[in-house]
Amino acid sequence: MPLIIKDEYPEKLFREDGKRLDGRKENELRPIKMEVGVIKNADGSAYLEWGNNKIFAAVYGPRDVHPHHLAKPDRGILRVFYRMTTYSVFERKKPAPGRREKEISMVIADCLRPVLFLELYPSTSFEVFIEVMDADGGTRCASTTVAALALADAGIPMRSLVSSVAIGKIDGKIIVDLSGIEDKAGEADLPCAITWFNEEISLLQFDGDMNLKEMNESLDLAKDALKLIHEKQNEALKCKYIEIQKEEEKNSQENDNGGVDLK
Ligand code: ADP
Repeated sequence: MPLIIKDEYPEKLFREDGKRLDGRKENELRPIKMEVGVIKNADGSAYLEWGNNKIFAAVYGPRDVHPHHLAKPDRGILRVFYRMTTYSVFERKKPAPGRREKEISMVIADCLRPVLFLELYPSTSFEVFIEVMDADGGTRCASTTVAALALADAGIPMRSLVSSVAIGKIDGKIIVDLSGIEDKAGEADLPCAITWFNEEISLLQFDGDMNLKEMNESLDLAKDALKLIHEKQNEALKCKYIEIQKEEEKNSQENDNGGVDLK
């Protein structure tokens, strides 16, 4: 599926065979790939491909606070910088962060903060830089998910991970994980996130038209989708530690052999 081309929205968002335009069922997520430890200079990092979205997250902290006046003597602060690169969307986007990026940075920080023990890090900062290289709908959810993973990769104590997905309504039906076209041409968009340690919703935004029954249906669909996303986050973290374990085993074998690889 191509990224959105402005003013080329299709009239119908379901195909003749009842599937969505990209071949998905109503409750189906786009393909998701996650990897941690992808940026050497960061304390923690992660990369996410979610459908056509391609997003990096890098975490730096705990570090000194700049500018100093933002420091809190009794706790650390979390700052999130969500940015879409100029050509991450079809039409050139101005490089300076607009209101949308500032708002998304704020909501992502709000939904990550509850899982951190910021009270243990007075006068320090944790900074999360999120770069959306390709955008195709649901980037705030994908960014929240990948940012939580980068925080975990940084080894920062966390109460749990945070997972996020957007539920929406297209052609009168409730669907999981809107693509860019579905987001633009659909009837409603409901991005949500969950903090797993208390299973509370830490992000719930809404744009469009839904009745109460549809809203409840959306939240039920979100629960199942969020569980799948959480599993993928855990797998990505485990993968890194399996690689580290393999590397350790290889190194200790080499040491046993007097540093010479006999294979
Ligand atoms: P989200 O990415 O969280 O769904 P929005 O609903 O604001 O956030 O945006 C939906 C989609 O619209 C984005 O994922 C992106 O593909 C596209 N988009 C956002 N901002 C722009 C922009 N300035 N120019 C072109 N497309 C954009």
